[in-house]
Amino acid sequence: MSTYDVAVIGSGPGGYVAAIRCAQLGMKTAIIEKYSTMGGTCLNVGCIPSKALLDSSHHYEDAIKHFEEHGIEIPGEIKLNLEKMMGRKASVVEQTTKGIEFLMDKNKIDTFEGVGSFEDKTHIKIDLTNGESTTIEAKHTIIATGSKPASLPFINIDKERVITSTEALKLKEVPKHLLVIGGGVIGLELGQVYKRLGAEVTVIEYMDRIIPTMDKAQSKELTKVMKKQKVKFAVSHKVTSVENTGDEVVVKATDKKGNEVEFTGDYCLVSVGRKPFTGGLNADNAGVKMNERGQIEVDAHLKTSEDNIYAIGDVIKGAMLAHKAEEEGVFVAETIAGQKPHIDYNLIPGVVYTWPEVASVGKTEEQLIEDKVEYKSGQFPMRALGRSRASGDTDGFVKILSDKQTDEVLGVHMVGARVADLIAEAVTAMEFRASAEDISRMSHAHPTYAEAVKEAALAATGDRALHT
Ligand code: FAD
Repeated sequence: MSTYDVAVIGSGPGGYVAAIRCAQLGMKTAIIEKYSTMGGTCLNVGCIPSKALLDSSHHYEDAIKHFEEHGIEIPGEIKLNLEKMMGRKASVVEQTTKGIEFLMDKNKIDTFEGVGSFEDKTHIKIDLTNGESTTIEAKHTIIATGSKPASLPFINIDKERVITSTEALKLKEVPKHLLVIGGGVIGLELGQVYKRLGAEVTVIEYMDRIIPTMDKAQSKELTKVMKKQKVKFAVSHKVTSVENTGDEVVVKATDKKGNEVEFTGDYCLVSVGRKPFTGGLNADNAGVKMNERGQIEVDAHLKTSEDNIYAIGDVIKGAMLAHKAEEEGVFVAETIAGQKPHIDYNLIPGVVYTWPEVASVGKTEEQLIEDKVEYKSGQFPMRALGRSRASGDTDGFVKILSDKQTDEVLGVHMVGARVADLIAEAVTAMEFRASAEDISRMSHAHPTYAEAVKEAALAATGDRALHT
């Protein structure tokens, strides 16, 4: 029987990063993945394919709507080749997942393709894809089994017309009318992809605003911009039934006055969140405890109820984000190696890759009010930037919230072009506990979208923005 210092179950961004860090730290490491490709949800049916389609559909929309204003004339009709677009997405995914295989090889990590399940605390049986099975012994195990799409109890996801994000990433036609249940990150990103490709899109959301966990100002701005893009929204609507009648999908919902409202489309994307996945793991055999939400319970060191078993990523509490899973992967590897790593969960940024993008870190204004923290706010509109006017991306803003007494930055919330990248400046500043004034006194290249960060910081420190 092969023995390892560490076995990692699951090869998503949590698992593969944990495996690499363990190997770097000199531990003999194995990784077990039940699918034939590495990379988990993120690389196969999540972050990477969704961004590939967002980029392709953005190019298409630019070509049909915006090229002309830039003086670019294309004789003849611009046509969509969805099959080719999907093919490109598949090849981006393939290159990325192959890259993980390369990294496993490079770091001398043994890979097993099959379902891993605990026999006891130190033995993992692997039902290999080739039909055989094997058992390995591991001093430590890291559970990184991720998550699966969640649904509502009365919805039958038939994967044809009533679909999850996984099917939405490989549709063979553009829906005529896509109904999206859930105005969170995944629903809005995929909704925008199909809107750009020509679908009518209606987003039905239970809460009174889309992206409800982000700052209210961001919800408001994104709603405004997406409405301009002709996406329809039905907020404060509780979905009560979803029926595939054969030709169409009928979604019934109750609005906030208690009236029943009916929506009809040809596809319905159910994007109401994701749930932790532990199927087939036999965690009980190792004595690993789960909570009532199906998450594996961990302590502050991400250790489960068993001393030699850790869990990371979507299968435990916290934001379901690839970079959160990665941080936890490194954290656990270093903990096993006897180091004392640290993660500041307050500084894990959240991003929506619509256009304009939405990005956030730290406390929202609503949280500060609830926590009775005295704060100052500085906001700067993207439209006042030369860079935004040059590109035509004038929607959005940067908002900086800082402590009223100390000026320490407490939260940064952005909507606009490339803010998914700009948020890194805010994370860095907050990691070093910068004040808004610190940011306002740093030189930001001109003309860039990043100037909005400096201007918002100026606005937060005595209303000193220069360009509004
Ligand atoms: P996963 O990536 O889910 O990987 C778990 C792996 O474990 C899977 O490969 C699974 O097959 C394997 N596994 C499970 N059980 C076993 C077993 N018993 N034996 C062997 N293998 C097993 N996050 C972002 O940060 N940015 C984004 O832009 C983003 N976009 C997304 C878009 C979509 C459409 C979706 C669905 C998600 C997106 N996410 C995004 C979320 C991100 O994909 C997850 O947070 C991330 O993948 C979690 O990583 P993980 O390692 O915990 O688990």
